[in-house]
Amino acid sequence: MKVAVVKESAPGERRVALVPEAAARLRSAGIEVLVEQGAGEAAWFPDSAYAEADAVVVARDELYAGADVILMVGRPDEPTLERLRAGQAVVGMLTPLADPGLARELAARKVTSVSLDGLPRTLSRAQPMDALTSQSNVAGYKSVLVAASAYGRFFPLLITAAGTARPAKVLILGTGVAGLQAIGTARRLGAVVSAYDVRPTTKAEVESLGATFVELTSVGPAAGEGGYARALTEDERQAQQQELADHIARHDVVITTAQVPGRRPPLLVTADAVKSMAAGSVVVDMAASPLGGNVSGSVPDEEVVTENGVTLIGAGNLPATMPTAASAAYSRNISALLLHMTRDGALVIDPADDIQAGVVITHEGHVIHPATAALLDDPHNESAHD
Ligand code: NAD
Repeated sequence: MKVAVVKESAPGERRVALVPEAAARLRSAGIEVLVEQGAGEAAWFPDSAYAEADAVVVARDELYAGADVILMVGRPDEPTLERLRAGQAVVGMLTPLADPGLARELAARKVTSVSLDGLPRTLSRAQPMDALTSQSNVAGYKSVLVAASAYGRFFPLLITAAGTARPAKVLILGTGVAGLQAIGTARRLGAVVSAYDVRPTTKAEVESLGATFVELTSVGPAAGEGGYARALTEDERQAQQQELADHIARHDVVITTAQVPGRRPPLLVTADAVKSMAAGSVVVDMAASPLGGNVSGSVPDEEVVTENGVTLIGAGNLPATMPTAASAAYSRNISALLLHMTRDGALVIDPADDIQAGVVITHEGHVIHPATAALLDDPHNESAHD
């Protein structure tokens, strides 16, 4: 089996799906590895490092012609889709619930597609394959550094001859993997940290990291399936926004991480809440995406300063800004999944396997992932019918 590693094409994307160390491990499992010229350069992995790991560095045309399985971080863009041929497989973060139209196109081309973001999170044997977790860890850490760098004061309490600086008050909204990592990082920088989530089970985790859990009286618990949050009703959403606004006004730095699978990210920080913050405050919106984000007025990949002096940072792809660590972790995830799906040197699709049931999206001309197939049958789903 020939496995190929592409050079990512999305704007700002600096990660690579397989680092040289992981390429060497696949080689020792008898898998041939092709790497597109320059694929790892932006993450500081030169072509020579792949060659030393016994991978073959090739031009793009040769890669698509020769590969059985193509590994990527994101999703294939249009020129890539044109190159894929029937029987080839792609493995990446394809976000089929947000973009089921891509699955339809891959099925039409008879391409087998595997999406790491569909992995069942609660299966302990799937943990080494959990790219959402590994990338969220990177993002949560980096979000605090981005916030601290934009904030015009200190994070820690500092007592010096030139005066005393009070510690920054940081509020983390959404305490999944990224939020918990952000709490730990902000605490290590010396900030006073509070955090909130709609899943009450996270309270103990938040407190164990030394932060204060914010409890809202107007919104009940909203845990959904598989450990995720459920979407709130319109009434719950409004009540949550209003009650959160008081807390937001009392903080110097707010970092938002809230997501609901397959949905637009919930709006947690309204325009009024931003207006209530003091000049010099910083808000990092890790959910900022073209679909919207957690913060009114945040723009993906941009820093906006509001009229009242609040810096809003749209930071939806922070793992791409720490490409070496993020790629190393992603490589381990994608290699573990690939090896799990490989028997006798070939990719074997088995929808009866509970890991594969979550990640295999298309095979032999069909969308076989049930949740994605259901979206494609839904006439009200815009993405599926554009
Ligand atoms: P996520 O990225 O889907 O969402 C981030 C956080 O936003 C979640 O904690 C969610 O509850 C919260 N959120 C959603 N809507 C909200 C709202 N309106 N207001 C406030 N908060 C809101 O979450 P994630 O980090 O991917 O984690 C999802 C789940 O997977 C968690 O239960 C986590 O513990 C679990 N998980 C388990 C394992 C494992 O068992 N090995 C590994 C990783 C994650």
